[in-house]
Amino acid sequence: MQSLKISSEELSRLTEQAIALALSYWTSVEDLPAYPTTSGEQTAKLFSRSWAEEGLGGKVLDDFKIIAEHARPSGGKFFGYVLGSGEPVGALGDLLATVLNQNVTAWRSAPAAVTIEQSVIGWLAEAVGCSAFRGTLCGGGSAANLMGLAMAREAKLPANEAGARPCTVYASEQVHMSIPKAIAMLGIGRANLRLIPVDDDLRMRTDALEAAIAADRRAGMTPIAIVATAGSVNIGAIDPLPEIAEIARREALWLHVDGAYGGLAALAVPEKFRGLERADSISLDAHKWFYQPLECGCLLYRDPQFARDAFSHTEDYVRVMAENPTESFAFFEESMELSRRFRALKLWMSLQYHGKRAFREAISRDLAHAQLLAETIQSQPELELLAPVPLSAVCFRHRSKDNASILKRVIARGRVYLSNATIHRQFALRACFVNHRTTEDDVRAIVSEVIAAADELNR
Ligand SMILES: *Cc1c(COP(=O)(O)O)cnc(C)c1O
Repeated sequence: MQSLKISSEELSRLTEQAIALALSYWTSVEDLPAYPTTSGEQTAKLFSRSWAEEGLGGKVLDDFKIIAEHARPSGGKFFGYVLGSGEPVGALGDLLATVLNQNVTAWRSAPAAVTIEQSVIGWLAEAVGCSAFRGTLCGGGSAANLMGLAMAREAKLPANEAGARPCTVYASEQVHMSIPKAIAMLGIGRANLRLIPVDDDLRMRTDALEAAIAADRRAGMTPIAIVATAGSVNIGAIDPLPEIAEIARREALWLHVDGAYGGLAALAVPEKFRGLERADSISLDAHKWFYQPLECGCLLYRDPQFARDAFSHTEDYVRVMAENPTESFAFFEESMELSRRFRALKLWMSLQYHGKRAFREAISRDLAHAQLLAETIQSQPELELLAPVPLSAVCFRHRSKDNASILKRVIARGRVYLSNATIHRQFALRACFVNHRTTEDDVRAIVSEVIAAADELNR
């Protein structure tokens, strides 16, 4: 037999076994501990191995069980960071996308996939009240933020040919780390990212924003963009979008909105996201609050010409020959990526399988879970809520114990997983709800686990 080729009998056996593994994992995921018992020593012992000269054959699937045992499950009791739940229909879509092995560079290389990606981009744009926007799928919010800021720079102070010139960008103190990272990679320099103070609700102060822009202009700097956050990673704060959009318009600055965590919640609570439609570019993460398997980021933009200005640099070997506008469309002219996987198929399948209402309801339930947790915390004298809860992230602390030690114990107990944040310079326990599997009992377990962990510290 030719190298790498496998027989159809063998393929059929492998496929059945792989699907059976997926199925048994999905049926067990609710019962798994919130975090695996593992260590760096154990994973090194299990998974650092050399590559043998002879193939193992179907035995490779035997590893899946042990890999799953040392993996972080997407069950309903995991509340750390902003971690979506890997909706199974989306996962099956991802499998089939990989089987098709489309390179979604341009219509010519992936006719159906390009059209499907354009369709699902349209659904996401409509879900956040920005129907007229176009966009591209990408690996995640970090990639979307980098591309959004690259577009901003090329629109306001073109750098692609002659290189970057000094300029300034504005974002709140609560901005996600991917923004300073993008600023650094674009050669703008992190020192030129102005971190604007926030109000008591941790939203960008627009008076301080205006003052910072004015001060920079007086000093001869060139402001190019404002990054507003629609759902800060710590507490879900939404910067005052209409006021910021007005400042951006008046100052002729690009407005990029980082909605990687919060943006898609606009499907359920559009009133909280008023002003989003005035952005020039918006980052979304369907692998967070649209429950999709990783990776599923998205950059939306109002005017695709700016994406082409930033990203199109076409060599002859990829130049599209077709005349027809559908057939000459190329994502690589609107994205930093050339080879791209068929990310849209999971959205295509999962979003249509469940329908719009089911997603709206799942997001509403996450929002309700966050309110339930906030209320439960406020009814417990030993606990204190540390920040408002505008979306689905709840920051709180135990009033009299060392919260970092509580967090370690909570994680070690394995029933729920929390992460942490710093709120007004205090160490906060943080729970974030972006998981369709979470139940009210799981929410109540957060408080009982924190109290149990605190009690253990006495002993
Ligand atoms: C998660 C997140 C990002 C980064 O997204 P990735 O998909 O992890 O790259 C950016 N901004 C905010 C607000 C986020 O929550």
